[in-house]
Amino acid sequence: MIEMGTLVSEVRVPGGYAKAFEMKKSQFLTIIDVEGQQVGDFVAFSKSDLKEKLSPVHTRTSLLKVKISMGDILRSNYRNPMFKIVADAVGCHDILLAMCDEQRYLVDYGVKDHRSCLANFEEVLRTYGISREQIPDPFNTFQHTKIKADGSLLQLPGLSQPGDCIVFQALMDVIGAVSACPMDLNPIGGNKISDLIIKINER
Ligand SMILES: [Zn+2]
Repeated sequence: MIEMGTLVSEVRVPGGYAKAFEMKKSQFLTIIDVEGQQVGDFVAFSKSDLKEKLSPVHTRTSLLKVKISMGDILRSNYRNPMFKIVADAVGCHDILLAMCDEQRYLVDYGVKDHRSCLANFEEVLRTYGISREQIPDPFNTFQHTKIKADGSLLQLPGLSQPGDCIVFQALMDVIGAVSACPMDLNPIGGNKISDLIIKINER
């Protein structure tokens, strides 16, 4: 594990809910999977221009791959470097799939009024003047999406063990949010919803 210096803040994200936070350039964000196999959807905005957002599609284009790993630079929709992955105990995250929203549960599972990552982000980002329409595609930490040889995808339980974490270093001042995904209708969360912890450190 790298030296991350002193703890600036620590927040527990209750399973099925989200928390937002601010972090400065060069600070470290640690997302800890408390019980294991809990997907944590992650979105971020440039603090100086909310139109600039962490972008999975621009990151995939920059890296020319569909998986993220240690040392990778995550890009914004303006193609600027936004985060660097500086530690990763799991090595299995998703940068392909959309976050869950009310329609995902209704259309695909016939369930009305289910909690969702999109509604969670809307709830916690409102205070920063960010609306639902501004929320970008997520980085799905601890989510296990297998790509089969024919190009089709399988949604599998995550590979994270209790206490596993991933650490991002911010490369600009950001407003971010993490949602402990409330999906309980497919196996991505290991058939339970559990808490995440987010920590911000600085050297
Ligand atoms: Zn979700």
